[in-house]
Amino acid sequence: MPTAILLIGWTLTAWFFTSLERDRSRYDKARFMAMSNTVTREIQERFILYENALLGGAGYWSASSVPITWQDWRTYVESLQIGARYKSTAGIAVLVPVKFSDRDAWIAEERRRGIPDFDVFQPAGALPPVIAPDDSFVVVAAEPSTQNRPAPLIGLDMGADANRREAAERARDTGNAALTRLITMSGTAGGQKGFALFVPVYQAGAARITVEERRAGLRAWVLFAIRADDFFQTILKAIDNQVSLTVFDTNRTSDSVSFSQDGNPAGPFERTKDIELAGSSWTLGFSRAAHFPNVSPWPSIWAAACAGLLSLLMAGLVMSLQSSGATAAALVAERTRDLADAVESADAANRAKSEFLANMSHEIRTPMNGVLGMTTLLLDTPLDEDQRDLAETAHSSAEGLLSLLNDILDFSKGEAGHISIEPRPFDLEQLIHAVTALLGPNAARNGLQLSTVWSSRTPRLLVGDDGRIRQVLLNLAGNAVKFTQTGQVRICLSCQEVTSGRARIRIEVTDTGIGIPDEIQPLLFQKFTQADPSITRRFGGTGLGLAISKTLIELMGGTIGVHSKSGQGSTFWFELPLPLQAPAPQPSAMPEFSMET
Ligand code: ADP
Repeated sequence: MPTAILLIGWTLTAWFFTSLERDRSRYDKARFMAMSNTVTREIQERFILYENALLGGAGYWSASSVPITWQDWRTYVESLQIGARYKSTAGIAVLVPVKFSDRDAWIAEERRRGIPDFDVFQPAGALPPVIAPDDSFVVVAAEPSTQNRPAPLIGLDMGADANRREAAERARDTGNAALTRLITMSGTAGGQKGFALFVPVYQAGAARITVEERRAGLRAWVLFAIRADDFFQTILKAIDNQVSLTVFDTNRTSDSVSFSQDGNPAGPFERTKDIELAGSSWTLGFSRAAHFPNVSPWPSIWAAACAGLLSLLMAGLVMSLQSSGATAAALVAERTRDLADAVESADAANRAKSEFLANMSHEIRTPMNGVLGMTTLLLDTPLDEDQRDLAETAHSSAEGLLSLLNDILDFSKGEAGHISIEPRPFDLEQLIHAVTALLGPNAARNGLQLSTVWSSRTPRLLVGDDGRIRQVLLNLAGNAVKFTQTGQVRICLSCQEVTSGRARIRIEVTDTGIGIPDEIQPLLFQKFTQADPSITRRFGGTGLGLAISKTLIELMGGTIGVHSKSGQGSTFWFELPLPLQAPAPQPSAMPEFSMET
């Protein structure tokens, strides 16, 4: 049982803990996913914002019929409020394609238009294009610029760098915005890393359906230079840097890392997302930052520990209850054994005592019979009055003593199990007659009416130990006469049932004597019990008669009992199953009658 409790308890605890942990990790995961979605969306929306600003610039450039000066551009860009609205951008520039063949003439024209020291130069660390180009993509306007001076970027040939050239050509050929891979941005302090976002500007009214038409109609590009670190960190800051982000600007290889917040671009990432930005495929790798607010596991750990401990306590409690139960059971068994031993030895002692009493009574009876015989003989001799009186007293004392000895002998025999029942055919009527004849003189002396009532169909010729039946009836009727001062004593006989050659005979002895208090009645059939010591002193007796009667009746297979009311009289009764003498029941031919003695 305790092991089962422990097993079940711990299994439930494990299940409980696992499900708490699962919910906890699901909840954390859901929050992480939501945050990484927010970051992705924010990146895409910002690019759309940049693209829209560039499209505005492109419209402005394309709408002008005369070449726009860098001062015009400044005026336009100031109206865009770049510093406030597009915080991660390093600048917004315009570049134009210039054929190598026209380049010197074009440079001279630019100088003439307002920048005396204008010249074309290459970006630092530029990777030359794979196929040698026949044109340059030269910056002609750039903001922000130093007050009243053209920006230092003016004159930069972006077409000299393969990365920038590829994006510019893609923008030109597709007519859409195009983004470079990571570049070292020219004109920034310490050579910051970033991207350039190109939007093509076509001649007003030029056809641009095919690639060739777009190439022929291209007038310029407008571009945003975006600081990579600044751009992504601003987005991550909005979610308190709870997730860390790595950005790959093409496929996920180490040389395509555009940004890595935790400096570990190799991952592993908890989630990767492929997105499309200005015509380029990018991959975003997300992980939880060290301070991602994961739900603490401690509440689940404590709850599981408490549940586990509770199971342990319950198992311990059941174990201790079981062991104390077992101890109690062992103690009860031991006490029961002791008690049985004690009862057995008490029974053995009682039997030994009863045997001794039986032997003694028997031994005393012999001389007592001698005394009785001698006093009887003495009383038959001529005696004077005093001598006769003394002899008669000795005779009646001897008779009393003999009756007492007989009682003790019977009782002791009963206790020692030495009484034997000897059935033989007898006549119940004769038996009743003998009893009434014996008690008649005493009843008459007390002025009592002693009667016998036979109910009809009471059989008379029966088989049983008539000596023992007589002994019981004599005791009951003798008591009735003894304890009744006025009125009557009645012996009633009836037959309760007759089945297969046996009759259940009921004999009741009813008197109008002193009666027996209710609380004494259950004790009457126990040995040495008398209703009232004062009555005993008055009437004499040993208190053994009823105990002997009960023993005898039960030995004969019957039952015995009493109904009585103190001061109103008593009815003692017994019932005996006795075989009938004749094979068939012989109901009495006599009508119900009453006989008085
Ligand atoms: P005893 O030898 O004392 O009569 P019994 O066993 O025959 O012993 O009776 C026990 C006691 O029961 C009597 O002492 C008496 O108090 C009470 N008793 C028995 N029969 C009657 C009766 N018919 N009326 C009143 N009391 C009785």
